[in-house]
Amino acid sequence: MTKLKTVQTSKDGTQKFLLELNDGNLIETVLMKHPYGNSVCITSQAGCNMGCAFCASGITKKVRDLTAEEMFNQLLIADEAMPHVSHIVIMGTGEPFDNYDEVVRFCDLVSDERKLSAAIRKADTLKNVPFSAVAPRHITVSTCGIVPKIHEFAQTEKRFNLAISLHAPNNELRNRLMPVNKKYPLEELIPAAAEYCKMTKRRITFEYLLLDGINDSEKHACELADLLSSMNTDASGEKLLKGSDYFYVNLIPYNAVSEFGFRGASKEQALLFYDVLMKNGIKATLRKERGADITAACGQLRLQREERFNR
Ligand code: SF4
Repeated sequence: MTKLKTVQTSKDGTQKFLLELNDGNLIETVLMKHPYGNSVCITSQAGCNMGCAFCASGITKKVRDLTAEEMFNQLLIADEAMPHVSHIVIMGTGEPFDNYDEVVRFCDLVSDERKLSAAIRKADTLKNVPFSAVAPRHITVSTCGIVPKIHEFAQTEKRFNLAISLHAPNNELRNRLMPVNKKYPLEELIPAAAEYCKMTKRRITFEYLLLDGINDSEKHACELADLLSSMNTDASGEKLLKGSDYFYVNLIPYNAVSEFGFRGASKEQALLFYDVLMKNGIKATLRKERGADITAACGQLRLQREERFNR
């Protein structure tokens, strides 16, 4: 049984749930209200082994993978708090492609009305929730860049959205921020992303956290534009996609986590970065800061709670 332990509600309406799994592991789920609908950010693992330098979830190593049912329970709890969840992002604690089979099973389940009704009947968290299936185009899986799984994901029958956490425009910086890059460097990751767009006709989101003085300069923005413009052509220089319509860059304000010493870029710097991308033909969005007044950085609520228990 998945139990709800605490809820934090931000001034902007974002709700963050701390949940306890059957075996006592604590996980987080976040619910956000957008003009286009309610979106839930699902956790796929208890802890994470990817070790990203800026992430609270990476402090505690992976304890275990979550099952599709445990991911589903997060959705039911969020939907009870704010009915009519229309969008799902698997972007909470954990690397979804390090738990590939269960994540794909979850995506398939929540996008299939028949399987969903059966799962609601069996769910150990809540019963009789009038939850409807979510269209695959409203389900996004976010990876830090596990290249073989990007290829595998492109082969799934349903076309889900893919987001890739990029956070750096070159290997040297990305190696420092995201150790996964040492195994799957940008020269493998970017072609895999282009291939995903080509095969699925789905638009990829490149997530880019703006870290003050680390990856937020004009030079970084130009480098990023150069890197991504290669998505439009194959090795022979032939155009794969029309313009940059199959991908865009989502610039994210960073919620500082004291342990790491990183700070978010200033608003001016973020706007400058955005302008450079747009001038270079790269579509970008500047994500609104959400839940800044609660412990919003991924994994922070769980971490605080565990620290309290471990004192
Ligand atoms: S950012 Fe994602 S992949 Fe990286 S350590 Fe945190 S949870 Fe894991």
